[in-house]
Amino acid sequence: MTSATPDLSTLSLDGRAVIDGRRVDAADGRTFDCLSPVDGRLLTRVARGGPADIDAAVAAARAAFEDRRWAGMAPAARKRVLIRFAERILAHGDELALIETLDMGKPLRYARGVDVNSAANCIRWYGEAVDKVYDQIAPTPQTALALITREPVGVVGVIVPWNYPMIMAAWKIAPALAAGNSVVLKPSEKSPLSALRLAELALEAGIPPGVFNVVPGFGPEAGSALALHMDVDCIAFTGSTRVGKQIHVMAGQSNLKRAWTELGGKSPNIVFADCPDLDRAVEAAVGSIFFNQGESCNAPSRLFVEASIKDAFLDKALALVPRYQPANPLDRNTVMGAIVDRIQLDTVLRYIEQGQAEGARLLAGGQAVEPVPGGCYVQPTVFDGVTNDMTIAREEIFGPVLSVITFTDIADVVRQANASIYGLQAAVWTRDLNKAHGVARALRAGTVHVNQYDEDDITVPFGGFKQSGIGRDKSLHAFDKYTELKTTWIRIDSPL
Ligand code: NAD
Repeated sequence: MTSATPDLSTLSLDGRAVIDGRRVDAADGRTFDCLSPVDGRLLTRVARGGPADIDAAVAAARAAFEDRRWAGMAPAARKRVLIRFAERILAHGDELALIETLDMGKPLRYARGVDVNSAANCIRWYGEAVDKVYDQIAPTPQTALALITREPVGVVGVIVPWNYPMIMAAWKIAPALAAGNSVVLKPSEKSPLSALRLAELALEAGIPPGVFNVVPGFGPEAGSALALHMDVDCIAFTGSTRVGKQIHVMAGQSNLKRAWTELGGKSPNIVFADCPDLDRAVEAAVGSIFFNQGESCNAPSRLFVEASIKDAFLDKALALVPRYQPANPLDRNTVMGAIVDRIQLDTVLRYIEQGQAEGARLLAGGQAVEPVPGGCYVQPTVFDGVTNDMTIAREEIFGPVLSVITFTDIADVVRQANASIYGLQAAVWTRDLNKAHGVARALRAGTVHVNQYDEDDITVPFGGFKQSGIGRDKSLHAFDKYTELKTTWIRIDSPL
């Protein structure tokens, strides 16, 4: 390790669940090993939650909801607690960032600068929003008044993936808690540690015991127990489309709990020859696919470049690739870290092999490397000569692999961009306003970027069309997921 790496000796990692305000082992005492992809070291043993632990957490959440220890607080009071929670996160930012990096391999500079800040900002924003959301009165006849009010849905189950563990959790727990619900969160078995620490910080901030519970464990054990639970009112899921479909089935099979899913993507990034700034387009194309080791649902993994600028574009892109060589994520200079685990590393390598087997041209990368012995790393990889029907253009790789597809015709490129089961994000680069608007409208995606790819803000909804999921995270729209609308009719016998 270099001298720039932080001191790990003071970090204490606790893998026990947080249920009803207490740290607890799994009911049957089982654990699983939590290994770091940075260097393969054992970080800690984590409680392997199962149906009994989910039962206990749901019972605690239900009791907290029924006695209204949180839901009954005035919104302004919940706001103060949530803002304190966000402040606790920032106060422990270095520790949380270190946990995140060790647990899932992202560079420490981004864990601190992006993940911690973004999770805290999200919790603060929903805290600040909650006493500014007004209920409504319907335009009814004078003989009656109809109030339309929002009520918390009750007990919310949250299941999240490993690529942005804290941010994905925050996007769901923040609006759910702000609206007065109780929450049971199941983090990914690949990255459970930061969520457990968040639950402790929430308690310190004053969120009452039982209101925010975290049960680590595997998907088919703890995750399905939560999705099938008869006393969970809503399940909010982020993860793969494959599991997302099962979540909707489980919700329907059990108690028809509300199910919301944020799923995979294969986002098209369309660069026309008249793009306003080629260097910026190249930086965005390369930087966005390699950010977070390519483990981003919205990574622009299909790059459509107009034929007349393809060579110039690729020359510039390949010149940037060395910047993203993976290195020790604990080193503060590192911009690309480790893949989350060996299983995911093997998946990425299999896709790279398949790309070559189907005839795509490997221009850069393609190999596993070990900048830190025992860790899981892969080179940033660029394929040219990709066609939209190749496996690497159709399936989500979730790794640092860019597929370059050449086009000549505007209608054809829009058709190809939309020829995907996914519809999470897309981008179009052109200085022609009519073309930009026309293409942006025609693209079937929850978010479309024009002449940039990196803008993001808690104020805007995030989610997908088609098999990228159902519902939206972020913005005031997220309250729709965690509240029920109630109509109350009041008779008025007016003397006037
Ligand atoms: P995954 O679907 O394998 O797992 C996600 C979560 O579901 C984990 O906590 C896992 O334990 C749990 N799970 C797995 N099987 C389950 C089951 N049978 N029942 C209940 N829960 C189960 O996904 P992943 O590999 O952790 O994450 C990567 C995926 O997440 C990618 O597809 C990515 O695009 C997607 N993602 C989407 C968004 C978005 O906002 N749209 C954001 C981040 C990640």
